[in-house]
Amino acid sequence: MSVKVRFAPSPTGHLHIGGARTALFNYLFAKKNKGTFLVRIEDTDLARSSNESEQVIINDLKWLGINWDEGIEKGGENGPYRSTERKEIYKKYIDKLIEEEKAYYCYCTQEELEEERKKLEENNSDMLGYSGKCKNLTPDKREEYEKEGRKPTVRLRVPENITIKIDDKVRGNVEFESNGVGDFIIVKSDGIPVYNFAVTIDDYLMGITHVIRAEEHLSNTPRQILIYDALGFEKPQFAHVSLILGHDRTKMSKRHGSTWVEQYREAGYLPEAIVNFLALMGWSPETEEEFFTIDELTEQFSLDRVSKNPAVFDNEKLNWMNGQYVKNAPIERVTDLAILHLIKAGLINEDQAKSKYEWLKKVVNSVKNGLAYAGQVVEKVSVFFNDEISPENDEALEVLKGDRVLELMEVLLKKVREADAIDDEFGKGIFKIIQKETGIKGKNLFMPIRVMLTGQMHGPEMIDIIPILGRDEVIKRIEMMKEKYL
Ligand code: GLU
Repeated sequence: MSVKVRFAPSPTGHLHIGGARTALFNYLFAKKNKGTFLVRIEDTDLARSSNESEQVIINDLKWLGINWDEGIEKGGENGPYRSTERKEIYKKYIDKLIEEEKAYYCYCTQEELEEERKKLEENNSDMLGYSGKCKNLTPDKREEYEKEGRKPTVRLRVPENITIKIDDKVRGNVEFESNGVGDFIIVKSDGIPVYNFAVTIDDYLMGITHVIRAEEHLSNTPRQILIYDALGFEKPQFAHVSLILGHDRTKMSKRHGSTWVEQYREAGYLPEAIVNFLALMGWSPETEEEFFTIDELTEQFSLDRVSKNPAVFDNEKLNWMNGQYVKNAPIERVTDLAILHLIKAGLINEDQAKSKYEWLKKVVNSVKNGLAYAGQVVEKVSVFFNDEISPENDEALEVLKGDRVLELMEVLLKKVREADAIDDEFGKGIFKIIQKETGIKGKNLFMPIRVMLTGQMHGPEMIDIIPILGRDEVIKRIEMMKEKYL
C-alpha cells in the first residue's frame, strides 16, 4: 500500500514553527516514499477558528515550499477538506456507533459532571472523569431529559480494564489504560464532533497510512484508537515527534522570540534556510553535512532518524544558517527583500525603490555577506542614507585624528575630483593607488578612510563604499569631517 500522510492544522492562529516542522516531516516522508501528502483543515473548534488563520497557514506552507498533493485548495476524491464541511460524514458514523450501542447520549449538565468528578476523586476511583451515569438510560428517562430541553453529548462506550497499546514509530511502545480514559465525549452538545472523532474518521476515510504529528497529541491517541476499534477501522501507524524547546529547555513560546513562520518571513529570512534548519530539529542526517535543499532532505529523510529527545531551538544557529543562504542568494533576491525593509524604515519610498534599483543593489551587496536576514539591512546600510555622519565613538575619533589622516584625506579628495568616473573599478583600484603614492597601507589606510566616509569602525565592504556614495557625497563627507574634527 502506498504511503499517505497528512498535515491537519487547526486554523486558530499562526503557523507555529513546530507546526511547520510537522508539516515538513510529513512532506519529506511522503516524497521519500513516493506517497501522497494531504493537507486538511481541522476547524472543529468553532470559537477559535478563522478564515484568516487558515489563509495565513496555507500561505506560510506555500512560502516554505511544502506543497501538497491533495486537500485544501487542491481538491481530491476524499473531500471536503475542512472538518466543518464534513458534518454529514461524521453523523453517519456517530449514528452507527449509537445503533450498535458503542456510543450513547449523555444528558449530564456541566454542574452534574463537576460534582461527579469530585465524588470520584474523593473515592480515589481510577475511572477518571466520568462515572457512566447515562450509560444505560431507559427510553423514558431519555425522553424526560429531552423534554427538559437538555441537549445531549455523545460518549463512546470505552471497554473497562483494557490496555491500549501504541507502537509509535518515534517513541516505541506506549501504553495507556482504558480506565484512565473513561467514556469520553465524541460529539459536543452543539452537535459538532470533537477533534478526536473528526480526526479518526478523516484519517480513515482519507486513507492515511502514517499519522506523523506533535508529541502533544500522544495523549489523544488512545482515544482515537478506541474509536478506530469501535468502528472496526484499520489503524494507521503513529509517529509522535518531540517538542521544540527554547534555549532554556522549556517549551518554545513567545518568550523565546519569534515562534511563527510569518515572523521569520517578515524579518526577511529565506524559506529554504528555514526548511533546512527545521529539518535538523529532531531529525539527523547520516553524515555531518548541514546544508540540504528540500530535495536532498527528501532523499535522506527517514523516521528512524527522528529523535525521541526534544529539539532545542537555537536562534544563533538559525541566523548563521540563514546568513549562509543569504550570502549565496542572487543579489536581486536579497535586494528585493531588503527594499521592503528600507521602505518600512522610511529610508526610501516606492518610487525610489524602482528608480534607484541599481544603486540599491550595490548598497545591499556591500553588506550582503554579513547579513543574518534581510531585515538587518536597515541598520547596516543607514550610513548611505544619512549624511549627518560623525565618529561613532572615541575609538573612531582617535582613528580620525591619527597620523597622516589629513594627508590621506587630501589625496583621496584629489583622486575623487580628478577621476573620470567614480565607478566600481575606481572603488576597487583607489586603495592601491593611494598606497603607492603615500606608502600608507593595511589598517592605517583602510580604517581612516572608513571612518571619514561613514563615521564607523565596521560596516559595508570597503571597496563598495566610495562608488555607492559617489563623487559629491565623498567630497562632502571628507570636507565636513576635516573641518569638524581635524
Ligand atoms: N489539528 C491538530 C493541531 O493543529 C492536529 C492534530 C493531528 O495532527 O492529529 O494540533
